[in-house]
Amino acid sequence: MSERVYIFDTTLRDGEQAAGAAMTVEEKLVLARQLEKLGVDVIEAGFPVSSEGDFEAVRKIAEEVRGAEVCGLCRTTLADIDRAGEALKKAAHPRIHVFISTSDIHLQKQLGKSREQVHEEAVLAIRHARRYTENVEFSCMDATRTDPDFLVAMVTAALEAGARVINIPDTVGYTVPMEFTGIITRLKQEVPGIDRVILSVHCHNDLGLAVANSLAGVMAGARQVECTVNGVGERAGNAALEEIVMALRTRRDKLHFETRVQTEQIYPTSRLVRKLTGFVVQPNKAVVGQNAFSHMSGIHQDGVLKDKVTYEIMTPESVGIPGNRLVLGKLSGRHAFKKRMEELGFDLSDEQFVTAFRRFKALADKKKEIFDEDLETLVMDQVLQIPRKYHLKYLNVTAGTEVMPAASVQLEIDGNPVRDAEFGDGPVDATFKTITKLTGTRAKLLLYSVNAITGGTDAQGEVRVRIEEDGVQASGFGAHTDIIVASAKAYIEALNRLEYRKQNLVKVVPESL
Ligand code: MN
Repeated sequence: MSERVYIFDTTLRDGEQAAGAAMTVEEKLVLARQLEKLGVDVIEAGFPVSSEGDFEAVRKIAEEVRGAEVCGLCRTTLADIDRAGEALKKAAHPRIHVFISTSDIHLQKQLGKSREQVHEEAVLAIRHARRYTENVEFSCMDATRTDPDFLVAMVTAALEAGARVINIPDTVGYTVPMEFTGIITRLKQEVPGIDRVILSVHCHNDLGLAVANSLAGVMAGARQVECTVNGVGERAGNAALEEIVMALRTRRDKLHFETRVQTEQIYPTSRLVRKLTGFVVQPNKAVVGQNAFSHMSGIHQDGVLKDKVTYEIMTPESVGIPGNRLVLGKLSGRHAFKKRMEELGFDLSDEQFVTAFRRFKALADKKKEIFDEDLETLVMDQVLQIPRKYHLKYLNVTAGTEVMPAASVQLEIDGNPVRDAEFGDGPVDATFKTITKLTGTRAKLLLYSVNAITGGTDAQGEVRVRIEEDGVQASGFGAHTDIIVASAKAYIEALNRLEYRKQNLVKVVPESL
């Protein structure tokens, strides 16, 4: 009989803390809906006291999500907890997550608090949180560098104060599996009544061990794993949800555990996180990387053709990677289009569908084969519904071996048409210079990259742009069969998101778990 492991997704909180990953409220809602569909047990939706935007995101997600617990993070400060309680008021299954550091390094060098103070604050905070919900989680931040005796004392105190879940984070990604096994084992042995609570692990990937450490924690008795989609997160990121889930599923013979995750939703969720954070997934990334299921060596290919089991330990279909890459074309009808969109995880409203289908037909006129990546690009902006200050109306570019590259651009800014032209080192430079001039933006271009979304010279070029102004970053994707147009779209998209973010994401991350 397999035991259940609870999946606590913190993509929206810890994942979002990664430099440049900040999401808007609308983006967070879209992701929360997908996480619910994925079947995670807990969605950590944000850190309500850290900003208005985070508060709103937690509040809206709590109001809407019914199929998963919705969790808000707090320091032990009572005002933090009240704010989280407020944000979670309408949740079907709320959880308040309180954390404080327990390592001497943090106590002495950062907090300037004694162990006694931390102990007392934690107990008061947990009791305070219990006034809002019985479902209180407590985290000993930097647990893996905490004196083991003090860790036992803190977990005991948290349990007695009424925490239902107690989390043991490897905040700095320092532990190794053998050591972590020892830490969890000791808590299981020495904390009185430990079986009344769920022990949780939260591992960072600074040494590339986040997943291994998490699994070691589970083997030693933890029953909740905190993780993020694609392993996004601060620095080297968090334990990757898809790797934890697929390791448990693929090695059920050794790891007798099960999760509630619908693994076929892993790939659509991974794609969505990629789009929302602007972080590409490395091709060799386990489970969701582009090459994760590609067999290139002759002997492997030969084996896979004879029988997949020779070199394939899990199937691409089991994680939701569509078996048939080439999907639609000019002759595809409404029905085929709708079905494919559903397979990709998009539930479009009737209105969104009409627009998406119109765009699909327009694209199919220019491009013979329409791939999944093309389809996603068609609908992302509709699904997200970010208010747009800038619209691209017209772009004309001259470039070549004998001319000085020039762009003329017409934009609509808050509904007013403006136009201008500039020369540049190349057509993209000329286009960006013109847009910069028209919008008067001070944003710095941090990243510009072009990818062919799919094969063939008629492929859509996908351009990714990341910009920054006064510490606020935003990224934009643009796709088009003409890469200059794609570049302009990506840049304008990034500018729109930056505008929106400047107003909605005044982020203050006081500390981080
Ligand atoms: Mn963390």
